[in-house]
Amino acid sequence: MTKYAEVAVDAPAGYNRTFTYSIPDGMSVAHGHLVRVPFGRRVLSGFVFDISNESKVTQTRDIHRLAHREPVLSYRDLALASWASEHYMGSLFDCAALLAPPGLSLRANSYVSLSRPDAEPGRLTQAQARVVAYLKRRGRVRRDTLVRNLGASSERALSSLAARGIIEGWSEDRKPAAGPLYITYVEAAEPSVTLEEREERLGSRAPRQAALLDHIEGSGAPMRLSEATKAYGSSAVKGLEGKGLLRIVRIRQDRDPLAGRTFTQEEPPSLTPRQRQCVDRIRRAMDTGSPRVFLLRGVTASGKTEVYMRALSHALSRGKRGIVMVPELALTPQTIDRFGRRFPEQVAVLHSGLSRGEHHDQWWGIREGGYGVVIGSRSAVFAPQPDLGVIVIDEEHEWTYKQQDTSPHYHAREVAIKLAELANAVVILGSATPDVVSNSRAIEGEFELLELPHRIRASDSGETLLPRVRVVDLRRELKEGNRSIFSRALSQAMEFALREGEQAILYLNRRGSGSLVQCRDCGHSMRCRRCDLPMTYHAQSERLLCHRCGHRQSYPQSCPRCRGPRIRYLGLGTQQVVEEVEKAFPGVKTLRWDRDAVSARGGHEHAMAGFLKGDAQVLVGTQMIAKGLHFPDVTLVGVMCADIGLYLPDYRASERVFQLLCQVSGRTGRGPRGGQVVVQTYSPDHYAIRAAADQDYEWFFREEIAYRDEQDLPPYSNLIHLVYAHTGPDHCRQQAVALGESLRRERLAWGITEADVLGPAPAYPPRVGGRYRWHIVLRGQNPRELLDKVTVPSGWTVDVDPMSVM
Ligand code: ADP
Ligand code: ZN
Repeated sequence: MTKYAEVAVDAPAGYNRTFTYSIPDGMSVAHGHLVRVPFGRRVLSGFVFDISNESKVTQTRDIHRLAHREPVLSYRDLALASWASEHYMGSLFDCAALLAPPGLSLRANSYVSLSRPDAEPGRLTQAQARVVAYLKRRGRVRRDTLVRNLGASSERALSSLAARGIIEGWSEDRKPAAGPLYITYVEAAEPSVTLEEREERLGSRAPRQAALLDHIEGSGAPMRLSEATKAYGSSAVKGLEGKGLLRIVRIRQDRDPLAGRTFTQEEPPSLTPRQRQCVDRIRRAMDTGSPRVFLLRGVTASGKTEVYMRALSHALSRGKRGIVMVPELALTPQTIDRFGRRFPEQVAVLHSGLSRGEHHDQWWGIREGGYGVVIGSRSAVFAPQPDLGVIVIDEEHEWTYKQQDTSPHYHAREVAIKLAELANAVVILGSATPDVVSNSRAIEGEFELLELPHRIRASDSGETLLPRVRVVDLRRELKEGNRSIFSRALSQAMEFALREGEQAILYLNRRGSGSLVQCRDCGHSMRCRRCDLPMTYHAQSERLLCHRCGHRQSYPQSCPRCRGPRIRYLGLGTQQVVEEVEKAFPGVKTLRWDRDAVSARGGHEHAMAGFLKGDAQVLVGTQMIAKGLHFPDVTLVGVMCADIGLYLPDYRASERVFQLLCQVSGRTGRGPRGGQVVVQTYSPDHYAIRAAADQDYEWFFREEIAYRDEQDLPPYSNLIHLVYAHTGPDHCRQQAVALGESLRRERLAWGITEADVLGPAPAYPPRVGGRYRWHIVLRGQNPRELLDKVTVPSGWTVDVDPMSVM
């Protein structure tokens, strides 16, 4: 009886959608196999999601072949991919690919050539003639190369030429991008050969063979073939092999990113009573084996990492394993060392900095159960860790846990929660400044809240207190005649720190600078009358623009609040700050640290090591420096302008600024000399800035949640962000208007009143990489219900639960 497979094909096909294929006799296909299937005129890859005895459709085509002998996905993988595809509206194939082994050849190449190169093809259209001429010249070519060179019109020509039998097409698997690494060695063949036999076989006229054999036997270890050949010549190797005295072997090498690093086991400190409570509750949840999500809220250096490690130990003692995720930038040797010392030989790492080979070997090592702990960035949530008992997400509020650039736009936190449900594991979310939505989920009882409100006291140096934070009002500086980018308080603090031989960090939030419009006298930012969202300056039209509703107004001559004439945009670059430091403090060594300055691989670690050694006294950087780094000699952090970022046209702007300021402040006061933070701002009364200055999460949360409630924003609603980008400004606007209209029409027709359509409006920034951007936001309890009523044309990006809606 014919069997059928439901296959997620690598083709645009709507989310969570499979196609039915028949399984040819003699082919053994199972759940999780990677297969090649015919799709239209092409052969594409697909993952097998289900097998059945009946077909849902009348006409099915056969699966071509298995692309990999063994199934590559487990049932757990299939369930997780299916959930991600449904929730994030991404293709099922793309979701499954996240879980597949690295280096697999997921895509086959399609080739075409003329069937009979010498025959006359007969009457051809112009496009067909071009294709035939091209193939005559080139022989066999890749289909996509041909289409790229001859233009989109050649697609149709290819189809009709194939139908007439003039050309033929086929597909070939690509070579896998990574596979196991084998190294060839030579070793002594038979230890059992007696000395006499050895002498006899060797003979007396082969001194090089004798020397090689002596060498191998002397060292007692295999020798690389390449080395043996280089030192003794290939004829010596061949001679010995022929005489049965030497054997050539291939040994699989493990490319280990932690090779050469030795970890000495470290005894854990005894827990503080607070830590004890947290660990006990987590252990109890693990012992009862019910999936549970904990939110561990604790200021920096309050001992959260110690709690993670105890939870991992407990999991290991129960025969389970764990995954630990940290933000990409915090995945430093320091972090890995700490886990490596606690769990020697048990730690695997997965992140984008690994070579292909290392990634391949770590992945398979994990899958074979070789590691108790996987440490990695966002994508580590898809590690094939068996017997999963605990998943940790450190700094759970970090935006890097959301995949922004490519589909599926998943969030590692939500994937982890789903995964824990499938694997009966516990999730620990840790942060000093939890995502407002996460915190509210904890308050509502969906997560269990654990708290570590104090920093660990270091026994030798007395207390490590949180640093003192001073907020400086830039409006007043200006009023009192100081036009420098440094307030008087910041310059004095710098002078003092530098005189004492200490280090300082100057922090600049550069994102979105340059187009946010503010009054320099009173700090008022220009807001949309309808949306209360900050407006930005649009250079092209020389007007102000609201990025939510599209409202425009002219550039104000004076401030609507204080009548002051100084309406400016905020804008300051790291390079400019460096120059100003060097002018104000001659002879001081500075280091610039932002994405441009340290983009090279390893540049980040290099810069950090240099600054730690004291190569520079002042570090000037963007958000990159705010991440969990530890600089004991830094006693001063200056925030150049806290307002940048506060007035971005996004509902999470305040949350982001609060988190960054708290984190930046956490960079100082870690050494015995304590530290201080100076925050310069035109908005000293804004709750995000005042709460950050006091490191008061509760205060911030109360203010922020009230605003979310009033504006019906998450956690009070769910959002879907739709973005269209195109080089043609008119085309872009028309597309947005058309989709907006059809959404509103369906909303009325179906009476879906609990979902709102906001926009369309130009997105912010309005143009990226030469492409204009327009967007629409859907807001409501279940905006998905509305979106499912329309067909979103290709070219739109659909982001479910977006991190920002700009
Ligand atoms: P967090 O992860 O919250 O930033 P850590 O776990 O890194 O905090 O702890 C901060 C510092 O305190 C680290 O140097 C850590 O080794 C130390 N520490 C943590 N827990 C204890 C403890 N119970 N006793 C002594 N030192 C501790
Ligand atoms: Zn508006």
